[in-house]
Amino acid sequence: MNKAVVIGSGAGGAMCAKELQGRFQVTILEAGREFRPLACSLPLLEKLRKTRLFFDAREIGWIFPAMKIRKAGAGMILVSGRSTGGTTTISTGNALRWDRDLRALGIDLDREFAELAREIPVFSGHQGKWRPLTRKFFHICREMKLDPQVMPKMGDYAHCRSCGRCVLGCPHGVKWDSRRFLEQAQRQGARLLAGRRAEKVVHEKGRARGVLARRGLRKEWFPADLVVLAAGGLGTPLILQDSGIACEPKLFVDPVLCVAAEMQDSFQNRELPMPFAVQGKGYIISPYFDHLSFFFNRDWLRRAGNIYSLMIKLADENQGSLPHGRVRKALSAADRERLQEAVDTCAEIFQRAGVDKGRLFFGTLNAGHPGGMLPLTAAQATTLHDPRLPENLYVADASLFPAALGNPPILTIMALAKRIAGLCRGQGG
Ligand SMILES: Cc1cc2nc3c(=O)[nH]c(=O)nc-3n(C[C@H](O)[C@H](O)[C@H](O)COP(=O)(O)OP(=O)(O)OC[C@H]3O[C@@H](n4cnc5c(N)ncnc54)[C@H](O)[C@@H]3O)c2cc1C
Ligand code: SF4
Repeated sequence: MNKAVVIGSGAGGAMCAKELQGRFQVTILEAGREFRPLACSLPLLEKLRKTRLFFDAREIGWIFPAMKIRKAGAGMILVSGRSTGGTTTISTGNALRWDRDLRALGIDLDREFAELAREIPVFSGHQGKWRPLTRKFFHICREMKLDPQVMPKMGDYAHCRSCGRCVLGCPHGVKWDSRRFLEQAQRQGARLLAGRRAEKVVHEKGRARGVLARRGLRKEWFPADLVVLAAGGLGTPLILQDSGIACEPKLFVDPVLCVAAEMQDSFQNRELPMPFAVQGKGYIISPYFDHLSFFFNRDWLRRAGNIYSLMIKLADENQGSLPHGRVRKALSAADRERLQEAVDTCAEIFQRAGVDKGRLFFGTLNAGHPGGMLPLTAAQATTLHDPRLPENLYVADASLFPAALGNPPILTIMALAKRIAGLCRGQGG
């Protein structure tokens, strides 16, 4: 059987591995280790943060290796998953279809979304688990005619225990993540190799020959008839650049800023995150307890149960690059203008909930939806293959998106990856 190497085991990689195993003998290379949820008790960490031991968000990797933090410059940090299951393991389980820009290019993913709906359980009946303050904020958003919508969640959320730890890994097996697809692929015979960092794809005469990877200090060679790159919106362009294939300086990241206030006994830290969302022009607003700000931002040195926070997630302009592997990304003037509009809306929501503007404080600017550095064009709507790539090398992650979604991308990445796997199957022996 022909050999396929899939790089990355998150949303795109796991989907491709599942779809390709059987037609190919699939090996999945994952830089991170096997995923484990954060084991520490949060009340203990809450006490520890007062010791000033926690001052840089990158330290999260010491206690939770599955979460990787990088600095993007201009005060922004980038958050991603680095373990089996990729960033899906630290997601909040949101399940939105957001393929308007792909459709505008002529890419119709209806069939793939329909298949995904049969493969992944999605649940929207979690309103009964919301805390009183979240219900109040939902009604305020309705009064303001912001049209708040209950967020559909991937997984068995009828059994959600409202522990609020989704981004630290669900300890109760409620939230769906891409490890379920990895397990399916492995049951069919795929090999999942964790702790293998792909360095480059070796190619000659327009064909990929295999992947050079590193395991600790050792180099390893994986010959391949097909290579699928799904190392995420930062990992994939890095590997391409190191393989001599230039990407475009069009990085987007969906920046996130939380606007918070002290509200006695709100206990948002013990509630499912992002229970509903409001869609603004180029941003969303959603209730979200920001654990990273809570641990590392001095403005958040307050009791966890007394903080209530609204997340703004922005669809940023696609301007950013990875010179020499370092992320260079800043908000543009237009991004800042939209962010200010969203902050003003949050301030009005809080005002209606009885909190004056002067009592609001902000989270650390962060981002976790990178992509856009190998954007698809209308000319590639059928092949989903950039002519810069060797004919048997495909990309299957958000690097292909033409613009930021400003919305949860997992479902859309997986629908696109499913289509790509279908195209690749044609190359099987
Ligand atoms: C805190 C947080 C919450 C989120 N919540 C949601 C949500 O609720 N819903 C939603 O739709 N989206 C959410 N997202 C975004 C979503 O999880 C990601 O956009 C999505 O998982 C990206 O899929 P991917 O396959 O491109 O990459 P990833 O899922 O990031 O997987 C890439 C994998 O490749 C590995 N890798 C990287 N480089 C290499 C290399 N050189 N060699 C081998 N392996 C490599 C990484 O370790 C990683 O495991 C969230 C993101 C964050 C940060
Ligand atoms: S709130 Fe807790 S139980 Fe519910 S999905 Fe998130 S981590 Fe799992």
